[in-house]
Amino acid sequence: MKKEILDAFNAQIKAEMESAYLYLAMAAYFDAESLDGFSAWMKAQAIEEMGHAMRFYQHIIDRDGTVEFEPLGIKKARWDSALEVFTDTLEHERYVTSRIDDLVQLTQEHRDRAGRHFLEWFVEEQIEEEATASKVLTDIKRVGDSGHGLLMIDRELGQRQIALPTAGEES
Ligand code: MG
Repeated sequence: MKKEILDAFNAQIKAEMESAYLYLAMAAYFDAESLDGFSAWMKAQAIEEMGHAMRFYQHIIDRDGTVEFEPLGIKKARWDSALEVFTDTLEHERYVTSRIDDLVQLTQEHRDRAGRHFLEWFVEEQIEEEATASKVLTDIKRVGDSGHGLLMIDRELGQRQIALPTAGEES
């Protein structure tokens, strides 16, 4: 792997782990609010992000690259409402999409076809991530200040199944 690609992919492992950390912080907020469904959804989301990190990890290993580790950080770990959490979630996923787009651009510039092919799964995944966050945000806006409405969304989100990380597996 070219150094530019390797460095960018290592940075993406960190970014995906930071996503996991952010969603775990959001899960903790919902647990404190006794919104168990929202919390379960965020825990599933956190585990999914670790799976994303593992895909990059395995891709680097498979190409004889060296995986690098740096301290993780998140900018924010406190929220005041489900509306605020999902506003941040959608914004965060849009940010991740822009990162993936930048990686695609980089692999094209360096004519790294293996890397470009590997990223295709993430291009598709980000469409889903943004759509899902957007849908929940719309539902939260729709119920407004209704506690009953929020509980209904909580029940629905609690149905999400946790997909365990499967590094490199096609899906
Ligand atoms: Mg991700």
